[in-house]
Amino acid sequence: MDTMERIRENYEEVRARMTDAAKRTGRTPEEVMLVAVTKTVTADVARMLYDLGQRVFGENRVQEAQKKRNALAELKEASWHMIGTLQTNKAKKAVQLFDVIHSVDRGHLADALEQQAAKLHRRMPVLVEVNVSGEASKHGVAPEQALQLVESLLMQPHLEAWGLMTMAPIEPNPESCRPYFAKLRELLESIKTRLTPGESFRHLSMGMTQDYEVAIEEGATMVRVGTALFRGIDRNA
Ligand SMILES: *Cc1c(COP(=O)(O)O)cnc(C)c1O
Repeated sequence: MDTMERIRENYEEVRARMTDAAKRTGRTPEEVMLVAVTKTVTADVARMLYDLGQRVFGENRVQEAQKKRNALAELKEASWHMIGTLQTNKAKKAVQLFDVIHSVDRGHLADALEQQAAKLHRRMPVLVEVNVSGEASKHGVAPEQALQLVESLLMQPHLEAWGLMTMAPIEPNPESCRPYFAKLRELLESIKTRLTPGESFRHLSMGMTQDYEVAIEEGATMVRVGTALFRGIDRNA
């Protein structure tokens, strides 16, 4: 099977599973955004997904994202999401390159993004990354600190607080991740009640290849999926 056929099959399967998971909890598939994580594939492979209708792409490194954006500049409807850890000294590049940043995990970074977004006269949608599991290897603020960081984002005129993001632990059984996703949803609800942050603060970015269906069942509005889309292809195609 050639690469395009393989990707079409993978893409259709992921979309179908997302639809089923959304329906199980009484939502429509349009309510859940697929962020196609292209960090392990070439720009040409990302373009195949675009040709199949995918519009939102996730990258975890500024430099790699810049290369892909340049190579794919003609894909006018594509939007690019930063999902990886961001160094403060890359804030300028990040604001130039990305449409949404999922990984704000400290006040310093928020300040740097605010400054750069102000210079470009744009508003930058951002999510706060939360370390729900408490694993030392994970980035993100502790759940108890999320409210404070969201509160500071709400005071930054060029940042738009969209919600919360998390990465669940690597687990052989996706059901084991359910409590972490439920916890992030409860945290979002509690912050909404306490801060009245406005309509745009409603997103839960959670779920990857191993656990995106469970994440959707627990209220994800964005899932970040890479591996499942690129199974069986030659990654250098
Ligand atoms: C790589 C990555 C993903 C996608 O993971 P897969 O298991 O390949 O679906 C999602 N989120 C973040 C932050 C990532 O770095």
